[in-house]
Amino acid sequence: MNKPLISLFFLLLFGQVSTAQLTQIPILCYHQIRDWKLKDSQTDKAYIIPPAIFRAQMKMLADSGYHTILPNELYAYLISGKPLPSKPFMLTFDDTNEDQYKVARPILIKYHFKAAYFIITDKIGTHKWFMNSLQIKQLSDEGNVIGCHTLSHGNFKKLTGTAWQTEIAQPKKTLEQITGKPVDYFAFPYGYWNRAGLPQLHQLGFKAAFQLEQPRYPKDPIMTIRRLVARGYWNPQTLDYNIKHDFGRPANK
Ligand SMILES: [Zn+2]
Repeated sequence: MNKPLISLFFLLLFGQVSTAQLTQIPILCYHQIRDWKLKDSQTDKAYIIPPAIFRAQMKMLADSGYHTILPNELYAYLISGKPLPSKPFMLTFDDTNEDQYKVARPILIKYHFKAAYFIITDKIGTHKWFMNSLQIKQLSDEGNVIGCHTLSHGNFKKLTGTAWQTEIAQPKKTLEQITGKPVDYFAFPYGYWNRAGLPQLHQLGFKAAFQLEQPRYPKDPIMTIRRLVARGYWNPQTLDYNIKHDFGRPANK
C-alpha cells in the first residue's frame, strides 16, 4: 500500500487521527500580571509578567498574524484532525489572579483574543488578589473558557480516596454552576501529573488536561497536553523564538 492508503487504513481502523502525528499547537501559560517587586526572585519573575511586557507580547502575536483558539477547537483538532485557523495558538491563565481580569482582559479584547482560565475554586472572591464569581462568569459569557485547577492547588500526584471528589469533582461542579456551562478541561497544579491518576480525569468527565513543559504521555496525550510558561522577562522576540522552537517539535517530545 502507498502512504495515503496506509493512513486511511489506520484512520478507519482506529476512527481517529493519532495525536502523535499532529504538530503541537503553541499553548502559553500565564499567572500573575503585575510589576515586579524587590522581593521577587528570578524564578518568581518567570511566573510574574509586568503589564507592559504582557502588552508587548500580545501585540507581537497579533501583529504576526497569530489567532487564538480555545480548548474545544484544540480537542477537535487532536481527536479528528479538524482544521484550525492560520497560526493558531492558545492563551491560558492559571490560579484565579484578579489581574488576569483587570489587566489582561482589556488587552485581549483589543486584539480579539480569547483565553482559557483555570480556576482554583477555594480562592474565588476570598481576597482582592483573586477573581470573584461575577468576574469569572463575565469571562465565560464573553466567550472565554473556564477550566478546573482544583479546589486548593493540591498536588495531583498525591490525590487519593475522597480527595478526587473534593479537589476535582466538586470544583468542576462549582464552576459549572457559576458559568452555566460544562467544565471540560483541567490544568494540573504546578504542572505535576502521574500516569496512575489520568484515568480518574477521564472518569470525572474531562475531555483534556493541560500540564506544563514535561513530555506528553504517548498513551494518553490528550490528558498531558503541554504548555509553555511565557516567562515574564521574555521580550516579544524571545517569546516568538520559543513558540517556534519549543512547539515546532513532534507531539511526543
Ligand atoms: Zn497553578
